[in-house]
Amino acid sequence: MKTFCGRANPTTGSMEWLEEGEDYDYHQEIARSRYADMLHDRDRNVKYYEGIRAAVSRVKERGEKAIVLDIGTGTGLLSMMAASAGADFCYAIEVFKPMANAAVKIVEKNGFSDKIKVINKHSTEVTVGPDGDMQCRANILVTELFDTELIGEGALPTYEHAHKYLVQEGCEAVPHRATVYVQLVESKRMWSWKKLFPVHVEAEDGEKILVPPSEMESCPGVPSVCDIQLNQMPLSDFTTLSDVVTMFSVDFSKPVQSASTYYRVQLEPVKSGKAQIVLSWWDIDMDPSGMINCTMAPYWVKPTSALQWRDHWMQCVYFLPNEEPVLQGEKLYLTACRDEYSVWYSLQKAREGENEGDEEEHKADVHVESPVCRCRAHLLWNRARFGELNDQNRTRQYIKSLRKVLKTDSVCLCISDGSLLPVLAHYLGAKQVQCLSCFSDLCILFFKANHLEDKIKIIEARPELLKPSHLEDKKISVLVGEPFFTTSLLPWHNLYFWYARTAVSAHLASSVTVLPQSAALHMMIVEFQDLWRIRSPCGICEGFDVQTMDDMIKDSLNFRESKEAEPHPLWEYPCKSLSDPQEVLTFDFTKTVPQHCLSTEGSVKLLRKGKSHGAVLWMEYHLAADVSVSTGLMQMSDEKGNCEWNPHCKQAVYFFSSVIESEILSEPTAVTYAINFDTKTGEIAMDFKL
Ligand code: SAH
Repeated sequence: MKTFCGRANPTTGSMEWLEEGEDYDYHQEIARSRYADMLHDRDRNVKYYEGIRAAVSRVKERGEKAIVLDIGTGTGLLSMMAASAGADFCYAIEVFKPMANAAVKIVEKNGFSDKIKVINKHSTEVTVGPDGDMQCRANILVTELFDTELIGEGALPTYEHAHKYLVQEGCEAVPHRATVYVQLVESKRMWSWKKLFPVHVEAEDGEKILVPPSEMESCPGVPSVCDIQLNQMPLSDFTTLSDVVTMFSVDFSKPVQSASTYYRVQLEPVKSGKAQIVLSWWDIDMDPSGMINCTMAPYWVKPTSALQWRDHWMQCVYFLPNEEPVLQGEKLYLTACRDEYSVWYSLQKAREGENEGDEEEHKADVHVESPVCRCRAHLLWNRARFGELNDQNRTRQYIKSLRKVLKTDSVCLCISDGSLLPVLAHYLGAKQVQCLSCFSDLCILFFKANHLEDKIKIIEARPELLKPSHLEDKKISVLVGEPFFTTSLLPWHNLYFWYARTAVSAHLASSVTVLPQSAALHMMIVEFQDLWRIRSPCGICEGFDVQTMDDMIKDSLNFRESKEAEPHPLWEYPCKSLSDPQEVLTFDFTKTVPQHCLSTEGSVKLLRKGKSHGAVLWMEYHLAADVSVSTGLMQMSDEKGNCEWNPHCKQAVYFFSSVIESEILSEPTAVTYAINFDTKTGEIAMDFKL
């Protein structure tokens, strides 16, 4: 089956129709999936195996046959563990067809076909009985259906159904229990991912303060989880206000309820401060005694030596609806509300003379509704974008460069999504400021809050449809952009600014200043501390041959993704530079986009010993004379090649198909590259060779 999917090209902005075969989604899913990462997660695998062995023994000791239900079998790994541990039969359920097919092959290759039946269904469709998918109910329930938020992948409704229809009463469960932990913190850095702070601008006629609209101040934000590698957050970026507290647990061996509910704990701050953020993570006990425990606790809670790197399970950052000043030792209640798939938090102060038992009193205070963004900003800007807009250093660079280019008679047009640049341009004295933005309602809120609604004009037109009347028949003397567009995924997608600039050419004065004047694509060869795992074949996992899975991932990567880079926020994924950073392509915004392709070839010297896992690419914008901003490397922090990355942006990572080990090479080595930017499609193709 073939379907046509229409989408706006993120770089060129033009509409294109892509023919998508039925396989496209499958390949996307597999190529970008976390299966490889899970198979490399030794801590997880070992503990599942121990837990499964213990559960099979307990059932056998009772003199029963061990019948296993493995929901979401993936590669079949957990079923194979159960079969090896002596289970009599396993029903391995997998809803995703290509994975179910792979599981059949893997199970066969490992010689378990007579013990494991792979069923390609969603668990809620599985039937039990003489003619059913399962002959009888199982007495061991094994699953791995958890995401960073624990319940985001639908574990609760799946368990609820399984206990009702698929397993026996009193069954064993691996994992046996999950527990969610929280810690209350103050963190300007993380709070800046949800709230927009006032922006201070030194203008000719005194300091101006740009304030966020009240709708934004009181907005609860969005319910989607903010999951990050908390182990990369230095202690200097937050202050813990409470101890680690158990928020709630789920016993998977008993009937589970998925209906919305809330949990509440009492807290006494260990320090006074502003309660803003709830950090959260979970652990799973593989057995009832809790001896086999797999935890996501971050480094300050757990000895660093015991940390297992993983990307499929991280930690969560929850934003309280508002910041709340708290005093050391005062009584607080922290409430976690959840629906079937997500969790959110609120904080209440205990009233005078109140005791822990006075539960009912508080029911009215609990905000049971899930957060819904009312100001639209949380829908248009993700958390990183909030952080970027709150980055005062960055704002300073824009102010500095605007000051250089603006004159009192400037007619200024801004092209960027939901940007503060038009306001800055107005404060810095531009005569006429207008912005091209599809987010006019957010802009209107902003301008109103700052009494600028009749000072800055919003033009709701695509660049190619701009008419002289939109500009009051004036020519643009200063064209500005951050550039930032919400459709951008890879660093070069923001080159859409160049295409928009080309589309509005007829409206530009002959002496127009374009800010940024140019962009440059930079590249560096790196060795990742851990991120390499997500693209690395696993081969044998806990004694089981899962190569079929490796091959499948490789096929899917080659399906369309080959010669393509993928976005990753590198502040979360440490790496070491093996080469100097190199400027590889430049884009001149003072001119229009050329008809021909822009390509370059060259080589980079490997300067340090290490494994070349891939190349990292990012953009630098040259705003005005002597002012540049980088969306990638901020600085090389030491001799060893450790790098500091822009904390608000994703960089492009191009994984090499085979890792180059420079320590075993006797002579100085270089990596040659060929990079081609196709100006018609806006795509960048790359090739690297040793
Ligand atoms: N058990 C494997 C894979 C875990 S990934 C391992 O531990 O390595 C989770 C898998 O569960 C995914 O492949 C997903 O497609 C599948 N899945 C999730 N919910 C399911 C459900 N209710 N029924 C069947 N499969 C499900």
